[in-house]
Amino acid sequence: MAKATKRTFLLGAGTALAGMGLWRLTSGSSVARGPAYPQFDSFLSAKGNILNDASLLEPTEIQKFVQFNSRIDGAFIHQLRDMVRGGGEKTYPMIASTARHSMGGQSIPDKGIALSLVQSWIEPDVSTRSYRVGAGTRWQTVIRELDKIGFSPKIMQSNNDFGVASTFSVNAHGWPVAYPGCGSSVRSLKMMFPDGVIRTCSRTENADVFRHAMGGYGLFGVILELELDMVPNLRLEPRFEPVAGRQLGERFAEALSADRSIEMAYGRLDVSVDNFFNDGLLITFRPTEDQSDLPAAEGSGIVSMISAEIFRMQTDSETAKEFRWWTEKTLGPSFTGVTTRNNLMNEPVVTLDDQDPTRTDILHEYFVPPDRFTDFVDACRAVIPASYQQLLNVTVRYVGADTESVLAYAPEPRIASVMLFSQEMSRRGEEDMRRMTHELIERVLEIGGSYYLPYRPHASLDQLTRSYPRAAEFAAFKRSLDPRLIFRNLMWDRYFSKV
Ligand SMILES: Cc1cc2nc3c(=O)[nH]c(=O)nc-3n(C[C@H](O)[C@H](O)[C@H](O)COP(=O)(O)OP(=O)(O)OC[C@H]3O[C@@H](n4cnc5c(N)ncnc54)[C@H](O)[C@@H]3O)c2cc1C
Repeated sequence: MAKATKRTFLLGAGTALAGMGLWRLTSGSSVARGPAYPQFDSFLSAKGNILNDASLLEPTEIQKFVQFNSRIDGAFIHQLRDMVRGGGEKTYPMIASTARHSMGGQSIPDKGIALSLVQSWIEPDVSTRSYRVGAGTRWQTVIRELDKIGFSPKIMQSNNDFGVASTFSVNAHGWPVAYPGCGSSVRSLKMMFPDGVIRTCSRTENADVFRHAMGGYGLFGVILELELDMVPNLRLEPRFEPVAGRQLGERFAEALSADRSIEMAYGRLDVSVDNFFNDGLLITFRPTEDQSDLPAAEGSGIVSMISAEIFRMQTDSETAKEFRWWTEKTLGPSFTGVTTRNNLMNEPVVTLDDQDPTRTDILHEYFVPPDRFTDFVDACRAVIPASYQQLLNVTVRYVGADTESVLAYAPEPRIASVMLFSQEMSRRGEEDMRRMTHELIERVLEIGGSYYLPYRPHASLDQLTRSYPRAAEFAAFKRSLDPRLIFRNLMWDRYFSKV
């Protein structure tokens, strides 16, 4: 990475931050909010109604913040319908959210009503292998409850803090293989439409709305509850396979097609500058013979906490990056023993939380055909080390073809690479990130890939429409369902309102 010391960045950072309007928000606000999940309250500012998201780079003035903490009842529906239909002279744009871990204003309405659903109900039905769940229920609750009855969510992200409706709304994916995004495991949902009426959406009812709302970033209504598939929880045994970085994509796809017993899988790449993306690891999990007496799903264990320390030391330290890769390669196989499906997905984001107030964690994710992964590695080598950004981690996944959602990021099977950068909170840090992201997306598009939408809004409009060729159809359908444009977020304002 281009050499710029932390000190260089910090000099003048105050002026830069003030100029950009970037600041850390403190809790305590005049707007209504509930008691749960204090870590997410920090996205609300004390000064006026300013709301932020996990990037900490999107402070935005809102009209009000409304949090619903309970199970949906008549009073809730009444209040929500009033907000959607608009009382009196003025109606405000609104958008639903849960944890606001998206990073580009996807859950923030400019001068509108930010609706936060914080729920915790779930009703599993073993006979149909499905469960009904509140839209704002988080995965930690889902895992805890399904674990008790020997089941597991079919598809979710690799962290458990996020809301179930949010996961459908970004169509997230994770380590379970070989599936497309979570939307493919959603049987139906109930949503308040822009006319204030609650309707069921599924593959047979309001199917067009279902396909647009899957990965539709809340732009079609407020999801109130969902019904999803569950699968048996399993005891799984890991296998670690060292693979050359450039071969990781093809090897991943090959391993999955050769062995259908693989339940979960991910890859990693070495991010040390001297060996950038040269070495990789493929980690696959298969069921063990003994599936009796599965242990209860735990939270993050001591090993995760120790690796979090090493993880953070990597910022600006080549030695720490090399050490981290060594631990991953050599200690990982000895310390990662037999585990369960639920255990693997039960990891909170806070495990890797950064305590440094001058930096923020920014994710990127790219999807490329397995046989173009070598080109992807070459593109990353050409672009990332020339930037000022600190790349701390790459996790590689396999995503099956998504033939349903309109904004599909993986219309064919794809290798997904999730990258976690530590970014300086300064104008220079942000501009460098914008330039680097633009260049990476361009190269990914050249090799037939796409980028993921819940992160920073650094793509150009042209790059968005090339990544998502049905963007115009998506926006037209939104306008026809929601002609008053009630459901709006910063992503609509910046992109879809212009296509
Ligand atoms: C540390 C970290 C790890 C991640 N790992 C993964 C991963 O492994 N795989 C992956 O695919 N993604 C991953 N992501 C991205 C993550 O899945 C999305 O950002 C997800 O939206 C976060 O959930 P949330 O509850 O914070 O969503 P929010 O930011 O609150 O909302 C996201 C979107 O969903 C919409 N929405 C939320 N609730 C409703 C509702 N009730 N009705 C209608 N629309 C709604 C919002 O309007 C918004 O557009 C990760 C993100 C982070 C920060």
